[in-house]
Amino acid sequence: MSIFYDIAVVLRDVASLFLPRTCLACGRVLLENEGCVCLACRYNMPLTNFAKRKDNPIKLLFENVLPVESAAAMFWFVGGTEWQRIIHNFKYHGRWFFAQKMGEWLGEELLDGGNFDDIDLIVPIPLHYRRRLRRGYNQSEQLALGVGRKMGVECDFRSVRRCHYNDSQTSKSRSERWDNVEEIFDVRRAERLRGKHILLLDDVLTTGATMASCASAIVKACEGDVLISVASLSVSRRIIDER
Ligand SMILES: [Zn+2]
Repeated sequence: MSIFYDIAVVLRDVASLFLPRTCLACGRVLLENEGCVCLACRYNMPLTNFAKRKDNPIKLLFENVLPVESAAAMFWFVGGTEWQRIIHNFKYHGRWFFAQKMGEWLGEELLDGGNFDDIDLIVPIPLHYRRRLRRGYNQSEQLALGVGRKMGVECDFRSVRRCHYNDSQTSKSRSERWDNVEEIFDVRRAERLRGKHILLLDDVLTTGATMASCASAIVKACEGDVLISVASLSVSRRIIDER
């Protein structure tokens, strides 16, 4: 990775601090008291309310693969809409700070639901180091910092590593994507995770396969002595419709 690229990433992030704050969804300039999404978008956001339902469709989705204590996603990910733009904005446009703000909102939802009260540690789904270098940050780590701050829970960015650099999965069928994520994670410090209730965190749940693969790697490395819950900021409707 060239040093010039790194400098460009830093300059881009610094420049964004001086631009007017705009709504992550609709792009309108935000008022002083608005967080990262304007009040109108906040009101219209297609929330799932899964955090309040113990046996929601996401928990059922994982049940066949491995037991999860609780599962939730905050809003529906609808392609081509302002709700997709929220994710794109902090994934591809360097607005990592807003990922933390969205994380705080997700943390509030998880606390309000009452099903995530005994989490010990938050582990965001890692990116492969090459992708992380290219983007300059991992948006799920930034989300985790926001969630952790709201819930008063520590984050762990170093115990799990993504060891395979897989291709973009957008054009593959659901079954292929499940095959493609077998054993792509490697747990380096199982002793830090053992005996704990871990919240695995991602920005978008597209098939659930990546999350399931990461959860399996952790359970295996801890020889079953671990509890897993999962949460993501958004979830694709297909994940539920295709079941
Ligand atoms: Zn808006």
